[in-house]
Amino acid sequence: MNLCALPAFADNYLWLLHDGRRAIVIDPGEAAPVLEALAAASLKLDAILVTHHHADHTGGVAELRQRTGAPVWGPAREVLPFDCTRVGEGDRLSLLGLEWQVLEVPGHTAHHVAYVCEAVTLAGQTAPVLFCGDTLFSAGCGRLFEGTPRQMQDSLDRLSALPGNTQVCCAHEYTLSNLRFAREVDPANAALAAHEQRCIAQRGQLLPTLPSTLEVERQINPFLRCDDAAVMRSVVAHSGCPPDRLSVFAALRSWKNSHR
Ligand SMILES: [Zn+2]
Ligand SMILES: [Zn+2]
Repeated sequence: MNLCALPAFADNYLWLLHDGRRAIVIDPGEAAPVLEALAAASLKLDAILVTHHHADHTGGVAELRQRTGAPVWGPAREVLPFDCTRVGEGDRLSLLGLEWQVLEVPGHTAHHVAYVCEAVTLAGQTAPVLFCGDTLFSAGCGRLFEGTPRQMQDSLDRLSALPGNTQVCCAHEYTLSNLRFAREVDPANAALAAHEQRCIAQRGQLLPTLPSTLEVERQINPFLRCDDAAVMRSVVAHSGCPPDRLSVFAALRSWKNSHR
């Protein structure tokens, strides 16, 4: 299998998974980069998966379906600008000869879903692959447009409980700005500092910093580390919130919203 992050708009990635003949695309906010990638490698589009209703994740679906005939799956309870097969918590899909599981991960939007492909062999290594849309970002998490801090923290806990080697395919390249914020929150975290240096080098060559892995995210992502003593101390000192995991998460999310 091959996994490609197709850049779109200012900082989106349209993820394309293919076996050299057939492909799946996740969250095609625009059609052109996907059509170009399909044509360049002579791929047939087998399926379109959508995580949530925002236009930068759905804008290319109608054209792609019209041009390729590929079927579309999307979250059961979101308003979407096209017909599709609706999926929700615990649904299983068999696509591209692989087993997929749907998780409901509300917070960024009210009914956001994530897709986990259970065992994908990429460059000789077999690991789960997670397409998490705008829920989890490398060193960060999505804004809470429709959900509560509790919902988002529950969603991130579920993603964080997946195996450590899970390849994390986020829908935006926000990593460097997330890392700048994370270093302010968690300045003594050596793994975080080392990861920032690696990502700066990758971006210097215009390479994606993604996929990340859950093992890395559990070490460096402050939003997954709200019960870490250093993160908790730092957020409580900054915002004066109570020293419990949920209050720390809510205060950390607010702090990030105003961070420049
Ligand atoms: Zn979004
Ligand atoms: Zn987005």
